[in-house]
Amino acid sequence: MSVPRRIGFIGLGRMGRAMALNLVKAGFQVAVYNRTRQRTTEFADAGCEVAATPRALAKLSDAVITMVSDPAAMDAVLEGPEGVLSAFAGGNTLINMSTLSPDYTAALARKCHIAGVNFLDCPVSGSKPAAEAAKLVILAGGDKAAVEKYDKVLKAMGRAVVYAGPAPAGTALKLCVNLIIAQLTTALAESAALAEAQALDPALIFDTLAENPALNCGYFSLKKDNILKKEHSPAFPLKHMLKDARFMLAEAARKKLELPVTAAAEALMTRASELGYGDRDLSVIQLPLTEPLRR
Ligand code: NAP
Repeated sequence: MSVPRRIGFIGLGRMGRAMALNLVKAGFQVAVYNRTRQRTTEFADAGCEVAATPRALAKLSDAVITMVSDPAAMDAVLEGPEGVLSAFAGGNTLINMSTLSPDYTAALARKCHIAGVNFLDCPVSGSKPAAEAAKLVILAGGDKAAVEKYDKVLKAMGRAVVYAGPAPAGTALKLCVNLIIAQLTTALAESAALAEAQALDPALIFDTLAENPALNCGYFSLKKDNILKKEHSPAFPLKHMLKDARFMLAEAARKKLELPVTAAAEALMTRASELGYGDRDLSVIQLPLTEPLRR
């Protein structure tokens, strides 16, 4: 199966920048669009075409990848006279890798189907370091043959592609995985707060976890410095996990399912967000736990 070479990439943020650079490194003919033009400079320097609008980008591309914040950002790049969809004739491919809601993704899949556009629902698991190292895990929804056709494109950004089923299965799986990350982060934050409240050094928690093979989890090591140093420069910003937790709860409510622990994690994230920490790393949820104690 021939691999499409002309890839348009929209959304050169924390994740998208690294993913697009990996496509360039893998030899694809990458064109880019980003709302804030300044972020395209290094791509222009690397010989990539920089499109002035999403529509212009779509005209240059066999497939367009989106890696933007949320459904509002997707609407901004897909819809309207300058949006991607205005330029797509039948046969093009849209690969969304942002984390959206299952509802939004299902509606987008339907819209693409009607327009004769192939749609791949491919959010990613892994944060900025995994994006930089091309070691993301790609959770793929859509037509299986179409996912296979884009395997080389996806593997230029990730170590593995997990096929989940027709769209929005990729997004559904992504929310299940992020539910665990939200709760693991909350668990680390609460455990460290309880340690401090008992005059214990929270580093002892991480030492114990590392010594126990059943609990020695890579994610704990990844967040260790954030929690111990209370330093929260963003790898995965709180605002994105809060969005995802709200997608999880909305989806659960629609399915008449209770997720009480996720609801508590969402409430803690909301508190942190209201304190102005939305752009900091998710691990910043430790601050609202300890700040009231200090006041
Ligand atoms: P980010 O750094 O905040 O970047 C967001 C991107 O979306 C930027 O390119 C931004 O453009 C663009 N954007 C936002 N609003 C827009 C609008 N209205 N119109 C056009 N473009 C708009 O986000 P990120 O961390 O890369 O995450 C991107 C997606 O991946 C999110 O859905 C997130 O949940 C998901 N994700 C993130 C991680 C992670 O660890 N960070 C891991 C897995 C999945 P500007 O440059 O103009 O602001």
